[in-house]
Amino acid sequence: MENTVKYASRLTRLGSETAFELLAKAKVLEAEGKSIVHMEIGEPDFTTPKNIINAAKKALDEGHTHYTGSAGDLNNRKRYIEYINQRYGSNLTYENLVITPGAKPVLFHTALALIDPGDEVIYPNPGYPIYHSVINFLEAKPVPYILEEEHGFRFRVEELEKLVSDKTAVMIVNSPHNPTGGVLTFDDWKVITDLAKKHDFWILSDEIYSRIIYEGEHVGVMSFPELFDRVVLLDGHSKTYAMTGWRLGYAVCNLELAGYLTTLMTNANSCTANFTQIAGVEALLGDQTEVENMVREFNERRKLIVAEMNDLPGVKCHDPKGAFYVFPNFSSYGLKSKELQDRLLNEAGVSALAGTAFGSAGEGYMRFSYATSRESIVEGLKRVRAFLAGL
Ligand code: PLP
Repeated sequence: MENTVKYASRLTRLGSETAFELLAKAKVLEAEGKSIVHMEIGEPDFTTPKNIINAAKKALDEGHTHYTGSAGDLNNRKRYIEYINQRYGSNLTYENLVITPGAKPVLFHTALALIDPGDEVIYPNPGYPIYHSVINFLEAKPVPYILEEEHGFRFRVEELEKLVSDKTAVMIVNSPHNPTGGVLTFDDWKVITDLAKKHDFWILSDEIYSRIIYEGEHVGVMSFPELFDRVVLLDGHSKTYAMTGWRLGYAVCNLELAGYLTTLMTNANSCTANFTQIAGVEALLGDQTEVENMVREFNERRKLIVAEMNDLPGVKCHDPKGAFYVFPNFSSYGLKSKELQDRLLNEAGVSALAGTAFGSAGEGYMRFSYATSRESIVEGLKRVRAFLAGL
């Protein structure tokens, strides 16, 4: 009999995240007995700090196992916004903040709330692949701004200005940036916010790596309070507190949008698990010693991996200023990034991502995560060196 099951056509417009696919492939090879050095997935190798785990355990023991309001429990929202106000010197209320299961729902729900078919959305290339996926999914037009190595992986003002049109609905900004580790300066932000004001578009600012920064202070969208009505701050616990598996993030935005994001939460998730919200309060406002230790260790690994990469013949590696990725240039070998990704995995036992997993401008590059031990970094690059020598 003929197979008659049908799937919605919109699925053909949905992209994915290669890091998860490559991790699955690497796990299969490991199960077959092959040794793999994991440098693909963007996840700290540390366990969640003890004070956060204890806060979750206590919350469970105390019976915080029920639904909360869709935007989060009132008390938790008040504590989250207390952190935001302390950090950014703002004067917002808990109603400006929506707690979500991971940062990804902030991206997805904000896109659902702000983007209509036919709108144009400006986003970074290379950039986090979910941006392009969501824009396409919503039948909007993806308008990439190219980040070039020669320009410190920051946008060029003249180029950006040319991309704005009267159809621009949203610009997505990500600093510190995945995959390049690039960081925007105050002047960069000024250009973006001036454009947003002039052309009346929204800024979705993905600042999930804002606490993982190695030089100077983080500058983000909250430095421009006059623009708050057209801004969404996306942040979360996954990276800073090594809480990827907990699924915890939040949006900060104006009251009207917060209302829509809450309704989207009601439709999609009901709410974020309360004991994780409570652990999230401890993460934001409790002892920060372990976070400081983690960032210090990332910084040591950063110096190690940049030095080792630049020591590989024919490889050029810039110095990332934030996050925990390097984006070295392998173009002198003349291989497509995807081929290099597959051969490194299968022939060298190193799992790292093709630059093109982040868009066409990533051709010639690879992304290595250094959220892994120094021993793994040294072993991984030893294998890459041997592989390159055999080409
Ligand atoms: N934004 C960026 C730039 C990321 O790199 C990630 C995770 O890799 C996310 C958002 C999603 O974070 P979460 O795991 O909290 O959903």
